[in-house]
Amino acid sequence: MTIVVTGGAGFLGSHLCDKLLELGHEVICIDNLLTGSEENIKHLEENTNFKFINYDVVNGLPEGLEADQIYHLASPASPNHHNPKSYTSLPFETMQVNSLGTWQLCETAVKMGAKFLFSSTSEVYGDPLEHPQKEDYRGNVSTTGPRSVYDESKRFGETITSAFVRSKGLDGRIVRIFNTYGPKMSEDGRVVIEFVTAALNNKSFPVFGDGKQTRSFCFVSDMVDGIVAAMEKGLKGEIYNLGNPDEFTILDLAEKVKQLTGSTSAVEYQPLPEDDPKQRCPDIGKAKQKLGWEPKIELEEGLKKLIDYLKSKEAEVFLKK
Ligand code: NAD
Ligand code: UDP
Repeated sequence: MTIVVTGGAGFLGSHLCDKLLELGHEVICIDNLLTGSEENIKHLEENTNFKFINYDVVNGLPEGLEADQIYHLASPASPNHHNPKSYTSLPFETMQVNSLGTWQLCETAVKMGAKFLFSSTSEVYGDPLEHPQKEDYRGNVSTTGPRSVYDESKRFGETITSAFVRSKGLDGRIVRIFNTYGPKMSEDGRVVIEFVTAALNNKSFPVFGDGKQTRSFCFVSDMVDGIVAAMEKGLKGEIYNLGNPDEFTILDLAEKVKQLTGSTSAVEYQPLPEDDPKQRCPDIGKAKQKLGWEPKIELEEGLKKLIDYLKSKEAEVFLKK
């Protein structure tokens, strides 16, 4: 098949391109490099089944493309307002790609008769009042707070996808992705990459708030398998939570990273950002039952892989000098 991946030069998108090529497909990666990097897809330059187009999907797809499937992953994804690649620093780009971009891509998918997948987020549950979160929980989200540019535009992206399914015959499905980490993560301020890079440089761990808030971390290869399963086996109009249900506090994460790196980093407490969710954990019963998918890689194993990757990256940079 010919498959379009929007956001294909980003963290998840570049791993997804690798996976789809491995499965024998032709892949067209569309990315405007807003938060992604050509470095992530450099190894695919010579692959004749792979094509990269630098393009802003707020305008849909470039003229003349045909595809059997469209994975829509393009969007900034980090909330960290200290970082220029975060959605809080890119509010208008974030709102546009998840609303106008999703709309255009749904139109195109209907015209092409292509299957469509929208990458939504656990953020649609906001600061959840139900725990763990199931797909039928409607969320506790601010419409005006700093995270709303992402949360509400992802919610609207889900609404757009669902309306196209209901009224225009789109073969579309939605995945709600929970915190994912692994090699090629961009240094966009998300907690795993912040802590691992801090530890490798023996700098302190910036812990926001008291560090007792929880997250559930999924390794990237598990997530990509889940996304592909949702496209292949997921039904039209359905929503699937994808994530690893093992839940940790942010202080637990700092401790684990410290142990695995052998660093001397200490915790440095900083103010908790507004609307930071206090707890988050996916109920993945539906994905297990309907997609036959569940994550395999535990946090410790995944962190080791990320640490090894970053060390080899450092070595590569050193060798190039
Ligand atoms: P990322 O920032 O690494 O990748 C996003 C990619 O989209 C980047 O390469 C960026 O340049 C591209 N992009 C942004 N706007 C674009 C536009 N208008 N046109 C073309 N390309 C554009 O982030 P990621 O972690 O890989 O996230 C991928 C998707 O998964 C996002 O939609 C994100 O909301 C969703 N998601 C990710 C996580 C996670 O933990 N990684 C969690 C929940 C949801
Ligand atoms: N966090 C932190 N220090 C950092 C970055 C994040 O303590 O340097 C916390 C943040 O407040 C949140 C959790 O870690 O409670 C996860 O943050 P991340 O930005 O990875 O994503 P989120 O799950 O909030 O979207």
